[in-house]
Amino acid sequence: MASVHYLCPQCEARLARVAGEPARACDFCGAQTNVVAPAEDAVIGQCAACGHAELYVQKDFNRTTGIALVAVGAVFVPWTWGLSLLAVTVLDYIVWRVVKDVIVCYECQAVHRGYAPNPAIPPFDLATHDRHVYGAAPPGAEEK
Ligand SMILES: [Zn+2]
Ligand SMILES: [Zn+2]
Repeated sequence: MASVHYLCPQCEARLARVAGEPARACDFCGAQTNVVAPAEDAVIGQCAACGHAELYVQKDFNRTTGIALVAVGAVFVPWTWGLSLLAVTVLDYIVWRVVKDVIVCYECQAVHRGYAPNPAIPPFDLATHDRHVYGAAPPGAEEK
C-alpha cells in the first residue's frame, strides 16, 4: 500500500494519505490541504506534499526496534553463553536487508512509503540537508 506521510502546514500534525484517497482537510485542525498520494505504480520524482524536487532514500527501519532487539539478546547472555547476542546481530542484519526504502523530502520531511525505487534519488546527504535547514549561509553565519 503506497502512502504519503507529511506534516500539516498549519498545526504540524502528522497526516497520512493513501494512494487513491482524495485530498481532504487536515484531520486535526481542519486546514485545507490538497496533498494526495501518487498512484501506487508512480515513480516519485518530486515531493507529493510540497512539490520539492530534492529527495533522498532511507531505510524504513526504526532504530529503536534494533536497540530493543540487542537489549533482549543481552538479557539472555547468561543462559546462552553470548550466543543470543550473535543471534540478534544476525536478526538485525536480516531485518535491515528486507526493510524497504522510503523516499523523504529534504524540504518538508514528507515520507513516501511503498513506491518503486527511483534510481535518480540519492541516499541522504548531510550537506544537502544542512542547506535546506540553514539556507545558503553555513551554520553559525547568522549569530543571534
Ligand atoms: Zn492541521
Ligand atoms: Zn516536501
